[in-house]
Amino acid sequence: MIGAHSDDIEIGCGGTVMRLIRDYPDLCVTWVVTTAHNERMAEARQSANAMLAGVNHHEVLVGPFRDGFLPYDGAAVKEYFEGLKRVQPDLILTHYGRDAHQDHRLVSELTWNTFRDHMILEFEIPKYDGDLGQPNFFVRLDSDLARAKVEHLLEHFPSQHGRRWFTEELFRSMMRIRGMESNATDGYAEAFYCRKAVI
Ligand SMILES: [Zn+2]
Repeated sequence: MIGAHSDDIEIGCGGTVMRLIRDYPDLCVTWVVTTAHNERMAEARQSANAMLAGVNHHEVLVGPFRDGFLPYDGAAVKEYFEGLKRVQPDLILTHYGRDAHQDHRLVSELTWNTFRDHMILEFEIPKYDGDLGQPNFFVRLDSDLARAKVEHLLEHFPSQHGRRWFTEELFRSMMRIRGMESNATDGYAEAFYCRKAVI
């Protein structure tokens, strides 16, 4: 999974990652955060390591780039992604290509640019810009996983608690809407955009 900022992976696909870990004991995970500094770097690492605690083979990579400036550090970011080609994953979870945040968009673009024949699912991040669309791929979550995702976010990102949107209600509401759309048994799901699927 590849996220731009320290909490993007957890917000966008934390429940799906938890479900994959539960359902596939031999999972091998590379977790990439491209921009995180100071306390946000510590939070990114602690959160990822906590979520992946039960995964035998995992690595957590945190890039050195500036929050908000990713497209303007383009050449260096492209080099960073070239270095990720050593990993050949079966599934990649990354940002939605039409996300309103410039960092998110570049991460999505370079993911597609780097991994040419891989299964890529794009997750969504709620934001002030209001860019939620119509995803076409849903991962249903039981109520235990939905609760675990929210608890994980609130526990591991104390630096974000001052933001009015960083709340249990918001995270649960997102999963509830996508759960309704996918008629999930327990009512919760995470949603993705699948642009290309190859079998
Ligand atoms: Zn972000």
